[in-house]
Amino acid sequence: MSPRTPHTDRADLRADCASCFGLCCVALPFARSADFAADKPAGTPCGNLGGDFRCGIHARLRDSGYTGCTVFDCLGAGQKVSQVTFGGRDWRAEPDSARTMFAVFPVVRQLHELLRYAAEALDLAAARPVHRELRRHHDAIDALTRGDAQALLALDVPALRAEVNVLLLRASELARSGVPGRRRDHRGADLMGARLRGAKLRGASLRGAYLIAADLSGADLREADLIGADLRDADLSGADLTGALFLTQPQLTAARGDGATRIPATLRRPGHWAA
Ligand code: SF4
Repeated sequence: MSPRTPHTDRADLRADCASCFGLCCVALPFARSADFAADKPAGTPCGNLGGDFRCGIHARLRDSGYTGCTVFDCLGAGQKVSQVTFGGRDWRAEPDSARTMFAVFPVVRQLHELLRYAAEALDLAAARPVHRELRRHHDAIDALTRGDAQALLALDVPALRAEVNVLLLRASELARSGVPGRRRDHRGADLMGARLRGAKLRGASLRGAYLIAADLSGADLREADLIGADLRDADLSGADLTGALFLTQPQLTAARGDGATRIPATLRRPGHWAA
């Protein structure tokens, strides 16, 4: 299989809340649901956000009905917008810039997501045939994230996403081509609540699959492509996710698991999982 180095875990693609003006807690909307205890429109500060831009209930988000906050990852977009795009000037001190700052944040979040996936593909030795093109796109997007607010708002992000996605697909195929046996294709499949206990899904494509509340306990998901798969409340107890492709921390945190679940080295075991 393709050996991977932990470049995916680069520091600038990790959230640094201490350097951010609480952008995810203001810019983004959420609706009262199983994931959020209250409604909040976009551009309005959450009632739990303190004057220091810290969450007042950070240590008890799940118990307080804010599970949705525990599975969001800005991938470093918050500090990029706060410190680079707006040069450390916060929306409370400069309210005239608030609307623009809140509009820029989701744009940079999407760019950082593309950088995160591209970085992982660049870590895949088997994907070397597409590394040159990937590197070119990666570096170009990296440069775009440092543009000014108006330049960022003018970007055609769906077009950038489509270009990168072609390369990510190819990288995935190359990385999974060495998996022995039949590789299942469940791309975009509706597998909500599916009984997949012990399923042989090594090297499968589960890109964008709906796996909400699926029973994947004991499943073999080694080298499976999980980009964009919805794993909310999926049971990963005892599953093997070693070498899973494009699996993110929010996906893992949204699922259930236990001490026997094997996860990629670049991710951490969620604290709420059973021992
Ligand atoms: S509950 Fe905390 S983390 Fe969630 S949006 Fe509000 S302030 Fe932010």
